[in-house]
Parts: sequence; C-alpha cells; structure tokens
Amino acid sequence: MTDCAIIGGGVAGLTAAVQLARARKSVSLFESSPKLGGRAFGFEDAKSGIRLDNGQHILMGCYTSLLSLLNIIGSADRLTPVRNMRLPFRAPGGEEHLMQALPLPYPLGQLSAFLRFSPLSLRERIRALRVPLTVLFGRTDSGTHLDSIPASEWLAQLGQTSRITEFLWKPLILATMNAVPEQTSAGALSVVLREAFLAGAKASEFLVPDTDLSSVIADPAERYLRESGAELHIHNRVKAVSQTPGGWQLQCADGSLHQAKTVVSAMPAGQLTELLSASNFGNAVTIDVERFQPSPIASYYTWTTKPACDDIMVGCFRTTLQWVFPKGELQDGTWLASWVISAADELAEHTSEDVDSLLRSEVVSLFPHLDAADIVRTKLITERSATFVPAPGLSAFRPVTETALPGFFLAGDWTATGYPATLEGAAKSGYRAAESVMKCLG
Ligand SMILES: Cc1cc2nc3c(=O)[nH]c(=O)nc-3n(C[C@H](O)[C@H](O)[C@H](O)COP(=O)(O)OP(=O)(O)OC[C@H]3O[C@@H](n4cnc5c(N)ncnc54)[C@H](O)[C@@H]3O)c2cc1C
Repeated sequence: MTDCAIIGGGVAGLTAAVQLARARKSVSLFESSPKLGGRAFGFEDAKSGIRLDNGQHILMGCYTSLLSLLNIIGSADRLTPVRNMRLPFRAPGGEEHLMQALPLPYPLGQLSAFLRFSPLSLRERIRALRVPLTVLFGRTDSGTHLDSIPASEWLAQLGQTSRITEFLWKPLILATMNAVPEQTSAGALSVVLREAFLAGAKASEFLVPDTDLSSVIADPAERYLRESGAELHIHNRVKAVSQTPGGWQLQCADGSLHQAKTVVSAMPAGQLTELLSASNFGNAVTIDVERFQPSPIASYYTWTTKPACDDIMVGCFRTTLQWVFPKGELQDGTWLASWVISAADELAEHTSEDVDSLLRSEVVSLFPHLDAADIVRTKLITERSATFVPAPGLSAFRPVTETALPGFFLAGDWTATGYPATLEGAAKSGYRAAESVMKCLG
C-alpha cells in the first residue's frame, strides 16, 4: 500500500507528488490523459516538427510555490525575466506605448509604472493611481465586501473612467484572470494587484518560459518522480474511490485496483464531481460545480518571413489579439510568434476561416512593416476550459484542502488558494495537500 495516491497529473498533482517524494513518502500518481502537465503542456507540431504550447503561459516573480517546484526539479533557469514591469504596447497603425517602472525604492517603483503608462493622459494616470494606492494603504481586505462585487463596480467607485479601464484595468484583468472586469470579483483584482504588482520588484517580474511548457514543468517533474521511485500511471483514469479499513482503494479504467493510505484529488471540479458520484460518498464532499464557469483562451501562432518585433512580450490595444510573444527565428528561416486572446468566448461564434482572416489583418495592422504575404502559416488553438471565472461571491465556494473524509484531500487551481486559476494557485494547492498528507501519515 502506497502512502499517497494522487489523482491528476497537472501542476497541482505534480507539486504534491514531488513534495511527498522529496519527503521519502511512497507515491502513486494517476493521470487519465496520455501526458502529464494538465492544462499546461507542450507538444510537437506535426507540420513544422517544432514544439508549441497548448497556450502561452507567463509566470510572475510572486509565484513562490511554483518557482520552488521548478527549483527542486531543476528547470527554474528556463524562465526569462521581464524586469521593471517593462511592457511595450502596440495599437493598429503601429502606434507604440510603454509601461515601465522607474528603479525607485518600494513601493515608489511599482507606483511609477502606473504613473508612466503612456496611453493615458497625465490626469488619467494620476486618477488610475487611486486603485494601487487603495490596495496598498486602504482597507481592501475587510471581510467579504470586495469578493461580493464586480471589479467594474469597485473601479467605478474609485473614480476610474471607462477609458482608464479600457486601456489599463481591462487588459490587466484579462491577462491575469482570463475574464472581463464585469465578470471578475473586486476581491480577486485586489489580490492580484497586492500580490503580483505591488509586492516589490521581484514579485512583479514577468517570467516567460524560453522553451515549451512540458520541458519546464511536466518532463522534469516526471524525471524527478521516476528517479525518486514514484509510480506513474499515465493514461489510466481513476473511475472510483472507496474507503478500506487501512485507507483507500482506487479503481482504474484499465481494471486495476490500487491501495493507498491517503488520497489527493488534483482534478478539476467537474471531474472530481464525476468521481465522487461514481464513488458513492453521499454528501461527505460536495462541490458546487456550477459556480465554476469555464473561460476559454485562444492561442494564435504565426510563422512570418520577418520578425514582428524583438521584445519578449508586447501588449496589443484595440484588437482581438491581446499579447504577442515572439519566439525567434526557426531553422527554415521563418519567425515564430505566439499571440494570446483571453476570455475568447466571442471567437467561438465565428468560423475558423473568418477568425484567421481577422487575426491576420490585425497582425499586419499592429506591425505595419509586415505584409499579409509575410504571414506564411498560422495555427489557432482554443482551450475552452482554460480557467474558471473568478466571479463575485465564488471564493466562498472554493473548498479547502481537508475534507470530511479522513485521509482524502483536495488540490487544484480551483480550490481555496486565494489566487485566480493560475499555475501558482495550482502549485500552492499541491504544497498544501502534501503537508496535509504528511500530517495525516504522522
Ligand atoms: C491556454 C492557457 C493559458 C494559460 N495561461 C496561464 C498563464 O499565463 N499563467 C498562469 O499562471 N496560468 C495560466 N493558465 C492556467 C493554468 O494552466 C492552470 O491554472 C493550471 O495548469 C491548473 O493546474 P491543475 O493541476 O489545477 O489542473 P489541471 O491542469 O487541469 O490538471 C488536472 C489533471 O487531472 C487529470 N484528471 C482528471 N480526471 C482524472 C481522473 N479521473 N483520473 C486521473 N486523472 C484525471 C486531467 O487529465 C489533468 O491532467 C492557462 C491555462 C490555459 C489552458
């Protein structure tokens, strides 16, 4: 009987597994799909033979749990930092803007980034400062109030005009929470601002993987786990779980049965709900799954004959495309770039040909040195359930690690991590689950 069975090989499950293996506990990890990594993975593009991601991910310096995992598995050096919140922006026609913090002591440096955000007038920037100043010095953590109202309402209360929201807050909310200000809770926005953008120069660094996501997370984690003697059951779905006198029994899709003293569920809310109903646990663990509304992210890859730009990442205004991450020159002489569209619900209403032609025209209008003929290939990937919407009131429904079932613990980006659906939330939940397992094992 293993010490712990972990169900789900995404970031949450991998983090829990690595922590437990590191503490010399015996671990069995079960993953239903043919690969580890969950919603963050790389794959080989059949046409070009190069590795792409299911979607561009960026990390931040405040991702302490995830960075600690990457340090343990040896891939923390695969991240390129963007320091001083230096973000160039583009608008149609090639109009250029910049956000950049001055090298000043905390919190002046962080505040200066907002004060120097060039798409806004000086008067608008001063007005925009009310939001970070409220987060830093106001009463934003007082109980549930901010959690219960939309970010749009809170921003309006703080005197933010629709132009300030359109150019500053909406892009920030889309990028960090994959939702629009009307859908997002003000509490979630205040957490993101406090933890990521206003917690010091290191915390606010953007960290962009310099290789595909599996090479940064799943592959080194798998190597670490195999070398530690963990059992990995990949492409084997756990169908049901039952309590036994000594712990737990897992029933897998291939018909095998596995015994463990403890279980960590590191599945998304929907799959956990299915497992619970197949496992006849009654009301011992109840998940209000309908509250976790999925939000899609679309990733658009372009192969061009010339580079779009040489920055690490560039924001886009007034276009469907929101960010571009140039990936450099490929062996065949073309230049690869990965474009991001968060909260991409509207794209689903159009044919893929229409979407492609719209996005091609946007690429050219954002970077006018490119012609339509310079775009030699494109590829659109839409992850329909990329994240859940951090809606007002949702935090009360995010479950904690411990359940009413002894030795059965929850992890996953949707649990009560305090973060929106992110790699950091997933990693943090994995650490917490591993701690609970170790306490339970004694
Ligand atoms: C396109 C895209 C872009 C994103 N961008 C960012 C970003 O820039 N920054 C950021 O921080 N986050 C980003 N995210 C969010 C981030 O990827 C997720 O928050 C994180 O990966 C969730 O990890 P998880 O382990 O909680 O869940 P998952 O990754 O969903 O892992 C759960 C795993 O459980 C497995 N499973 C389910 N049921 C069973 C079963 N019965 N038996 C066995 N296994 C099972 C699933 O196959 C899956 O592998 C992005 C997500 C997407 C899709």
